Amino acid sequence: MKENNKSVKIKFFKGENIPLELHKTRVVQKLNLVPVERRLQALYEGGFNTFRLTTNDVFLDMLTDSGTNAMSDRQVAAMMYADDAYAGSQSFARLHTAVRDVLKKEYLLPVHQGRAAENILANAYIKKKGDLIPMNYHFTTALAHITQYGGRIVELLYDEAYNISSSHPFKGNMNTEKLERVICETGVENIPFIRLEASTNLIGGQPFSVQNMREVRRIADKYGIRVVLDASLLGENAYLVLKREPEFAGSSMGEVISIMTGLADIVYFSARKLSSSRGGGICTNKLEIYRELEALVPLFEGFLTYGGISVREIEAMAVGMYETLDETMICQSPQFIAYLVNSLANEGVPMVTPPGVLGAHVDAMRFCSHIPQSQYPAGSLAAAFFLVSGVRGMERGSISNQRDEEGNETFADMELLRLAVPRRVFTLSQIKYVIDRLSWLYENRQLISGLRFVYEPPVLRFFMGGLEPVSDWPQKLMKKFREDFGDSL
Ligand SMILES: *Cc1c(COP(=O)(O)O)cnc(C)c1O
Repeated sequence: MKENNKSVKIKFFKGENIPLELHKTRVVQKLNLVPVERRLQALYEGGFNTFRLTTNDVFLDMLTDSGTNAMSDRQVAAMMYADDAYAGSQSFARLHTAVRDVLKKEYLLPVHQGRAAENILANAYIKKKGDLIPMNYHFTTALAHITQYGGRIVELLYDEAYNISSSHPFKGNMNTEKLERVICETGVENIPFIRLEASTNLIGGQPFSVQNMREVRRIADKYGIRVVLDASLLGENAYLVLKREPEFAGSSMGEVISIMTGLADIVYFSARKLSSSRGGGICTNKLEIYRELEALVPLFEGFLTYGGISVREIEAMAVGMYETLDETMICQSPQFIAYLVNSLANEGVPMVTPPGVLGAHVDAMRFCSHIPQSQYPAGSLAAAFFLVSGVRGMERGSISNQRDEEGNETFADMELLRLAVPRRVFTLSQIKYVIDRLSWLYENRQLISGLRFVYEPPVLRFFMGGLEPVSDWPQKLMKKFREDFGDSL
């Protein structure tokens, strides 16, 4: 039987242009929507940090797409026939085959999640203090591992990427003129690798084009530097290439994915995103690279045929790897995100455009233009939005930044509230609820004020840090909520 693997466009004779799902729900999880008074209490208990809320208090969990995508029936079924073995598991063999088929890489090193791959790559390749990793943009865990081993990074986006409301289709592109300049100034011997991140997470899930990646490859070859692709969000980047890069208009997901992985020497990924499960991996076609990294897997992760991942999860990863080729599966999240972004933008809410992947991104710098960056507008907005909706988003702004070597605060280029839209998890009425509450909050934005740290961990402070409001603004916001919504939740 032939399967339909292309996203379909259905014309609605009347009404809006809404995304249509090509799946049905078969297992459900009940959600809690607790009263606003309880949500306020939860914020104080969680240090006004959405990472520290518990799901008992959360209605729609839009914190992240990491490990939260819906599993398919086939993935769950595969978990049942997993082969429990420390060494030589058939489950690993099936994953290995899937990686060869989909990512077209011969060698695979399994790791327990994406950052474990970053740890191994930084450990293997950052050999001296000051080694420089050019990249399109950093990801929090990638940066933390590189600096942990004494390395530095330089971010090489085009100026357009920092333009929040833009229509540029590929804001994740690496500025190749700057790349060449950086290589000449720094010296090849001080650049262990170039890192390209698919669907550049922290600037709003924005893709790069294949054309751009080819240009990066050309420069890397000219100077003999390795290209490392962070493929955690590769499926979505490939989907947007199909939709936005004219050369690939008639191509399949598989063709685009294999072209992109073919342009990198090393591909690593978080399977919490790439194949909607747990785990991660590093893969390459070069035996010498495999040999350089091989010993670090048993040291940090586990034996080479499980890498700290349970065999059940490995089976789900293998099935999920093939499902990444299915456009009807990959398109669901980007289509919901586009609907969310466009609807909010129509209400006047400042959003990152064009709509990207993994979530909708609200421009907190404009939403809360009255809050100085030193009082964390994005963190304040995340807390305020949870208070008025029970929806948990994530701060992607200065709280997510790390201090510099002298311990000074470094302000983020963008202050974003990210509302993640994991694959095939939410319904359209839930998305409409988000639009309604966020539009209300926008009208009442003057009631939001800032936050300050009361507990600041030295590494990745955004995860467990504790903050407090600079005034009694949460109480005032709650009062206004009660006035407008009555006794509604
Ligand atoms: C999530 C993510 C990572 C880290 O992966 P984990 O599995 O959470 O450790 C690395 N890079 C990108 C682009 C990501 O989105």
